[in-house]
Amino acid sequence: MIHIMQNRLDRGFYRFQDEYEKKILEIMRSGWYVLGPEVEAFEKEFAAFVGADDCVGVASGLDALCLAFRALKIGPGDEVIVQGNTYIASVMGISINGATPIFVEPDEYYNLEVEKIEGKITERTKAILVVHLYGQASNMPPIMKIAQKYGLKVVEDCAQSHGACFQGKMTGSFGDVGCFSFYPSKNLGAFGDAGAIVSNDDKICANVRMLRNYGSEKRYYNKVVGVNSRLDEIQAGLLRVKLSHLRELEAERERQCNRYLEDIHNDKIEVPHVREGATHVWHQFVIRCKERHALMKWLEEEKIGVIIHYPVPPHLSEAYQYLGYKRGDLPITEEYAEEVLSLPLYNGMTMEEQSKVINAINLF
Ligand SMILES: *Cc1c(COP(=O)(O)O)cnc(C)c1O
Repeated sequence: MIHIMQNRLDRGFYRFQDEYEKKILEIMRSGWYVLGPEVEAFEKEFAAFVGADDCVGVASGLDALCLAFRALKIGPGDEVIVQGNTYIASVMGISINGATPIFVEPDEYYNLEVEKIEGKITERTKAILVVHLYGQASNMPPIMKIAQKYGLKVVEDCAQSHGACFQGKMTGSFGDVGCFSFYPSKNLGAFGDAGAIVSNDDKICANVRMLRNYGSEKRYYNKVVGVNSRLDEIQAGLLRVKLSHLRELEAERERQCNRYLEDIHNDKIEVPHVREGATHVWHQFVIRCKERHALMKWLEEEKIGVIIHYPVPPHLSEAYQYLGYKRGDLPITEEYAEEVLSLPLYNGMTMEEQSKVINAINLF
C-alpha cells in the first residue's frame, strides 16, 4: 500500500535540482555568506513581485512580524486586532512587543470577519493584523476603510499567501507592512529559516533594516538596541531560484486543488470556498468535518497523512493563559479548531497519489 504524506518537500527540490545546486555552489565559492549581493537581489525581486517599493529580508516570519510592529512603535498599552484562528506566530508578533492581541472571529473563508472588527476597536487600538490564512486573500477594501476611519495601521501576515491577490492587488501591498515567512513548507519556501517585510514606507524599511542588524546602519555604530535577524546568502539565493518558478508551482497547486474541489463528494465533508474577488494560492487545502476524529482514523488506516491547522487556537493556548480567555469566548474559532483538516498537498504530488486521497475521502 502506498503511503501518502501530508506534505513532502523533496519533490519540489528535485524539480529544479540543477539550478539549486549550481546556486549553492556559486555562493559557497563566493566567500560572502550573510547579507550580501544575493540578499540584495532577492529583496529587489521580491518587492517587485509583490508590487511594493521595498523589501527587507530577515531571519523568519515571526521576526518579520515582531520587527514590523516594533518599527510601527506598537508596544505596551496598545491593542492590535487579529483573527482568533491563526497560527500562534501571528499573535506572538504582537505580544513580544508588549502589545495586547484582541481576537476577532473568522468568516466562512477562514479570514478576519470584517463585520466584527469595529465592535472591538477602543482608544487603545493601534493596528489590525490581517492574516491571509491558508493562502486565500482577505477582503481588504473594507478593512482598509475601517483602518482609515479610525487611524489604524494595517499589518498583513502573508506567511501563507505569497502571490495571492484581492481584486488584482497582491497581498502584502495593501497595508503599512506585509510580513512574509519563507519557512521550507511555505509556498515560497527556503531550505532553512527565512522571512521578509515589504512596505512602501521608506522609514519603516530603513528602521527594520537597522533593527535586523543590531540596530546599526553603519558597522559598529549602533543607534538602538536591535536584534540579529539577518538573512543569509544561501537562503536568499535559493529563494531567487524558487521565486523565478513560483507561478508554475502555484499553477500546479491550483490544478491539484481544483481537482479536489471537483472530485470530493461526501456530505460529511465541507470543502473550502473562495471569496469573489479573491485568489487562493492554496498553501493548504482545508476541509471541515464534524466527525474529524473518525475521519482521521480512517485516513490513517488508508496510510494517508493529514494535519490539523491548528488544533489549539491561540486564545486557549497555554502560552496565552495570562490574557484570561476561556473556552466559549470565540465559538466560531473554537468550532473550526475542532473540525478543520488539511489534506495532502505538495508540488509534485502525482495524479495517482491524489486519486487515492479522493477515493478514501469519498468512501468515508
Ligand atoms: C509560518 C507562519 C508564521 C511564522 O513564520 P516562521 O518563519 O515560522 O517564523 C507566521 N504566521 C503565519 C500565518 C504562518 O503560517
